Amino acid sequence: MSRILSLQCRECGTEIPVSPTHVCDLCFGPLDVRYDYAEVARRVSRESISAGPPSIWRYRELLPVELDDDEPVTLGEGFTPLVHAPNLGEVLGLRNLYIKNDTMNPTNSFKDRVVSVAVSWARRQGFETIACASTGNLANAVAAYAARAGLRGYVFIPANLEEAKVATTAVFRPTMVRINGNYDEVNRLCTELVDLLDWAFCNINIRPFYSEGSKTLTYETAEQLGWRLPDEIVIPIASGCQFVKHHRAARELIDLGLVTGSGAAMPRLTGAQALGCSPVAAAFQRADGHVVPVRPDTIAKSIAIGNPSDGGYVVRIARSTGGVVDCVTEEEILEGMELLARTEGIFTETAGGVTVGVLAKLARAGRWRHDETVVAYITGHGLKTAEVLNGRSQLEEAIPPSVRAFRERFGAAAEVPAVAGRRVPTAATTPA
Ligand SMILES: *Cc1c(COP(=O)(O)O)cnc(C)c1O
Ligand SMILES: [Zn+2]
Repeated sequence: MSRILSLQCRECGTEIPVSPTHVCDLCFGPLDVRYDYAEVARRVSRESISAGPPSIWRYRELLPVELDDDEPVTLGEGFTPLVHAPNLGEVLGLRNLYIKNDTMNPTNSFKDRVVSVAVSWARRQGFETIACASTGNLANAVAAYAARAGLRGYVFIPANLEEAKVATTAVFRPTMVRINGNYDEVNRLCTELVDLLDWAFCNINIRPFYSEGSKTLTYETAEQLGWRLPDEIVIPIASGCQFVKHHRAARELIDLGLVTGSGAAMPRLTGAQALGCSPVAAAFQRADGHVVPVRPDTIAKSIAIGNPSDGGYVVRIARSTGGVVDCVTEEEILEGMELLARTEGIFTETAGGVTVGVLAKLARAGRWRHDETVVAYITGHGLKTAEVLNGRSQLEEAIPPSVRAFRERFGAAAEVPAVAGRRVPTAATTPA
């Protein structure tokens, strides 16, 4: 008996057979994978999950790939650390603040989750070419997983992408198609190409399967909290695709009884955007919740989508769960990156700066009681956008290599002990 029943339109409910397509023929609504949850429930339990691999594939019964005896295309993505953040929590007045550190994925962003699922699905369907329209991180992941799967990779990117993201994609030797235009224009081109080529575009024609991979971030968060959902999750928003899937993931955990008691309430889902590309935050402010496309202008390039496909759903979910969608300035993004690094030793890219920036803004406005469990999804690594920190390091002048020069500059703060080497334990610190 198959767990995976069909694709279903999110708007009108029409069902069609599982196939590489992403919009409803009748109403142009997005398609989602529909599962037989009775069958899923028969197969899945906390124990079966714990016995699985330390990757997103421990949740394989909740992913849209029929594997039988096949192995998925995997680089060990997912199962990233959920880090308690007492130092940042102290700054923000939150005792139970956690960072879901998704910078620790194989290509250092959360996109590895979705691409592992998409490429596994596409390979089983017999596709030979994996492609994507990308703001950078998706290009990294598609290039790596295409290499891993032995498939051809085509990545379409805006020509002005961060240098680090270009080099770290090119190394996997995909075909890189650089476009003189912004992401929304790249995406429009790829949407036209989908109809002309027999390729699997991860975030276009095979999006219903791709997007399901996002759910694993929320499954892991619950599992790592001891099978409890948090009170609130702060999530960066580009297309809004993952935000919608985190809602679905929480619903599934509750309905399948994998979370129980006080840990089985739907969390408030809160979205974070950069002011320079904030169509969803603006829509959240409007009574009708309508998303008006914008032209992006922000250093947070990985989440700079001016015409977000799932923006309207994000507004509805944020409202229905009691969350908000807010945005921060360019300076607040940089301060967010620096705050997380300085307090918890975690280096995130600009998208994470947006998330921490919104988290800090809301905390300072008194949004949370000090004991609420709040989780921030940190979705990409700082080395990907290190160039934005140029000129912010506040370096001291270099000194000559002498003790005298060192003492002169760093003074009392660096008193050199009379006896070099380890401190000798005193009576008070020697164990009995
Ligand atoms: C793609 C991306 C997002 C946002 O994903 P959407 O599902 O398009 O909203 C967030 N953070 C990073 C680092 C990303 O690369
Ligand atoms: Zn429809």
